[in-house]
Amino acid sequence: MEDKLKPVLVEKKLETCEIDRARMSLMDPMLIEEKVQERTIDEKVQERTIDETAQEMLRHTLREGIETVWDRYDMQQPQCTYCASGLSCIRCAMGPCRIIPDHNRERGVCGADRDLVVARNLLDTIATGAAAHSDHGRDIVETLYQTGKGTAQGYKISDPAKLKRIAGELGVTTEGRSDEEIAVDVSLGLLEEFGTVKNEICFSKRAPEQTQAIWDAAGIRPREC
Ligand code: SF4
Repeated sequence: MEDKLKPVLVEKKLETCEIDRARMSLMDPMLIEEKVQERTIDEKVQERTIDETAQEMLRHTLREGIETVWDRYDMQQPQCTYCASGLSCIRCAMGPCRIIPDHNRERGVCGADRDLVVARNLLDTIATGAAAHSDHGRDIVETLYQTGKGTAQGYKISDPAKLKRIAGELGVTTEGRSDEEIAVDVSLGLLEEFGTVKNEICFSKRAPEQTQAIWDAAGIRPREC
């Protein structure tokens, strides 16, 4: 029987962070060699983004062995097909449950079928992702407010036309007012959108008309109370 190579700890300078981690971990030397042959840094950068500025940053992270989201994604491969298809559920302590019709697992312990499990997982994912990003938006709005007040050091209003366009959407008066005054009212209007008790979020009108009609028919326009 062919001798299997033993894992070794390799410490010399490495080409990419993926290979770096592979070598620093006690991985199979043949697997490490495969990874070295597999891709150059430039190929990886091209594969990860077409944005030239981001490419420069990625090239730097790969040379320096700095871990990024792309490396962690690679390290997670192959990902769980049940999770990827939405057919697994960890919503409650009776789980985890997986829907596998071929093995007579048509429903979770609670009775949820595949449609319910997938729909709930999709909605959870969308809501969690949107919530995670919404605070980034709030930070930007707060910076706009400080800029209008003149207390945000190093910031200025660089696109007054866009400011006025958004002011129009929010119903903020622009006639005879400075950009800073408009910025304060626009930011206050936007901040209210984050915890509004109005009938609807102003920017929901940006959605396609057909989508808005569906929301209205179902009574689910965002934040309608
Ligand atoms: S399918 Fe039902 S029982 Fe299973 S984890 Fe999800 S909620 Fe709990």
